[in-house]
Amino acid sequence: MAKTYFYYSAMNAGKSTTLLQSSYNYKERGMDTILFAPSFDDRFGDPAIYSRIGLKQEAVLFDQGFNLYAYVEKKQEAFENLRCILIDEAHFLSKAQVAQTIAVTKDFGIAALCYGLRSDFLGEPFEGSQYLLAWAEEIVEIKTICHCGSKATMNMRIDSKGKTVKSGSKVQIGGNESYLSVCMKHFIKDVGTIRNNAFEGEGVTV
Ligand SMILES: [Zn+2]
Repeated sequence: MAKTYFYYSAMNAGKSTTLLQSSYNYKERGMDTILFAPSFDDRFGDPAIYSRIGLKQEAVLFDQGFNLYAYVEKKQEAFENLRCILIDEAHFLSKAQVAQTIAVTKDFGIAALCYGLRSDFLGEPFEGSQYLLAWAEEIVEIKTICHCGSKATMNMRIDSKGKTVKSGSKVQIGGNESYLSVCMKHFIKDVGTIRNNAFEGEGVTV
């Protein structure tokens, strides 16, 4: 039975490369795929998913109002053998869109491979990832490492001078140079936002 998979990682772990490779594997076996990517990520001027190692494939762009279920339902007739949808930057899905993704797998028998981050540059969860972590039937980590050699689980935003950014908009599309993948120790040391939460709430005494 087709399932929803959530492949999560920190920045620069090669998610887009893995996505494109997976899509290629389906196609090589005579199965069709549709790729989705957020519409504000138009860095390259055309609707496609790019990987850092030079791969590229056309993608359908989604915004907050986009209905994934309706799109797949309408388009599946146009394909001979549509078997998989792949979603890049899936953390930008809304709760409704994650639910639509789940429904696509169950109603149409089409697998959904979703690739995204768990948390933003302040350590706060993204809506899409929250529901993917809650609802996806398979959850898989794509690992990458911090500059110290430990596993990186957090995303730090840096400015053009390499300084840690501690406030600003949740959505900032930038190249790899705007973000560093770091371990929790270095995230807390440099950003500090998670430690602040330790002292919130009733009954917390230090
Ligand atoms: Zn570290």
